[in-house]
Amino acid sequence: MRVVVAAATDIGQVRDGNEDTYVAEDPLFALADGMGGHRGGEVASRIAIETLERLFATGEGTLPELVREANRAVFERSMSDRAVSGMGTTLTVAVLEGDRVRLAHVGDSRAYLLRDGELRQVTEDHTLVQRMVTEGELTEVEAEVHPHRNILIRVVGVEPNVDVDELEMTPRPGDRLLLCSDGLHDMLSNQHIARILTAERDPDTAVRRLIADANAAGGVDNITAILLDFHNGGGAEARDPETETRTILQPGDPRPRTATAGTVGRGGRAEPTGPAEPGSPPRPSARPLAARIRWAKLATSIAIAVAVVVIAFVGLRMYLDTQWYVGVSDGRVAVFRGMPTEVAGFDLHHVVVETTIPAEDAQALALYRDLGEGITANDRAEADAIVERIREDLAANGAFPEPAP
Ligand code: MN
Repeated sequence: MRVVVAAATDIGQVRDGNEDTYVAEDPLFALADGMGGHRGGEVASRIAIETLERLFATGEGTLPELVREANRAVFERSMSDRAVSGMGTTLTVAVLEGDRVRLAHVGDSRAYLLRDGELRQVTEDHTLVQRMVTEGELTEVEAEVHPHRNILIRVVGVEPNVDVDELEMTPRPGDRLLLCSDGLHDMLSNQHIARILTAERDPDTAVRRLIADANAAGGVDNITAILLDFHNGGGAEARDPETETRTILQPGDPRPRTATAGTVGRGGRAEPTGPAEPGSPPRPSARPLAARIRWAKLATSIAIAVAVVVIAFVGLRMYLDTQWYVGVSDGRVAVFRGMPTEVAGFDLHHVVVETTIPAEDAQALALYRDLGEGITANDRAEADAIVERIREDLAANGAFPEPAP
């Protein structure tokens, strides 16, 4: 089977940015239509596609597993980055595998198959209105114009896990498989899409016309289309229409990427029903275990050292509070609490009572010569008694008048 591919994305007529992202790299074809305020939609669709591409390249895991991993990647980013909290994206994937096509799908982007001139929607929209149609509460026609037709009930990235629709088909020569975002199928009826796919046999031209007609119909959303044409023969050829595909080449990345400029919230679409986390949980520490243990040990040592110093100070304080002495303060005899000394510039004492007795007079008596160094007492009463004795001795020596009452 030979496959010819055309793919393009367009910002549309209304939006400031493109929140659709796609990859068209044989054998992996996928599109994601992001949603979420600020830059959320753009980030969600990009993470989904990049995760898918990266995991697909490893060759491990089934397609639904890859989609669930993409879901987890978007969800984790949404949890850790407040700026994109609550973002989500659709994800529709087609993988060519021999003569088969495997599909995986979440959301309201669509895969259509044009076979023998008939267009059939292959995927089911994970929208509220589609569920109502399935349950018989709404007709297909009512659903197409329902004001809340864009409310999604299944999205990639808003919950830790997601159910993934899995489909498989065997293409026949002449089949056309179209993957598109709602910016296309919301603007154009299925009949309109079928008409273009039937009339325009060249895939580039067909994709270009799909996008041009969606824009002409209002272009209220970003428009993305990937068209796979199946022919007899081998391999896939990817062709991007030059005019419609907005691609940029990034340094070191030889592959064209979807251009995504600044972005706005998805006006026409309600936020997905998911856990709207108001805050972001802290990121798990990336520090190696050994480093964390070292820090824990250091922290413990510091805590112990601080405790020792505190206990020493408290103990010293309590001890000093039991110590009394009589000494000199501002030239006068005084009663002190503490010790008549200082340590590292800190006085270990304070004045409790300052008397009117001149220290000079007391020191003139041999008994009190060393008053400046402090005469220690066992308690306050003893200190007071020393002061009283000084007063008496001075009076007895006539050097000092009787104490004032
Ligand atoms: Mn959209």
